[in-house]
Amino acid sequence: MEWCGDCYDIPYRSLIPEKIENLIVAGRCISTTHEAMSAIRVMAPCMAMGEAAGRAAKLAVRQNVLPSQLDVDLLRKELIEKGAYLNSMEMVQS
Ligand SMILES: Cc1cc2nc3c(=O)[nH]c(=O)nc-3n(C[C@H](O)[C@H](O)[C@H](O)COP(=O)(O)OP(=O)(O)OC[C@H]3O[C@@H](n4cnc5c(N)ncnc54)[C@H](O)[C@@H]3O)c2cc1C
Repeated sequence: MEWCGDCYDIPYRSLIPEKIENLIVAGRCISTTHEAMSAIRVMAPCMAMGEAAGRAAKLAVRQNVLPSQLDVDLLRKELIEKGAYLNSMEMVQS
């Protein structure tokens, strides 16, 4: 989890296990520090992670890559197009 001033981001890499390929995790089982877990374990972030994981799985299949190899800009673009709120929206739109 990365602090950005007035909120926090959950990087896609937190959803990707280090030692198991072809798996995406979401919700309370993602990789975080103890402190970060206290913030991300509630329902809204869990729901957002679930959507991100599902869309990442779809894109990985369509691109024929492992989830760990997915172009994260592509995932951000897809999430924004489908109405998800991302703190890094400006980064994608520019
Ligand atoms: C008592 C309590 C009150 C809470 N109150 C709030 C609140 O007011 N607001 C809020 O935002 N958050 C609240 N939370 C936190 C929030 O509900 C959870 O942190 C959130 O639901 C976690 O989502 P998750 O998808 O990671 O896990 P879960 O919601 O636990 O979902 C995991 C699912 O996987 C299933 N499962 C487990 N093992 C297997 C298996 N082997 N095969 C198939 N399925 C399996 C489980 O049955 C479950 O349905 C509360 C939590 C608790 C315990």
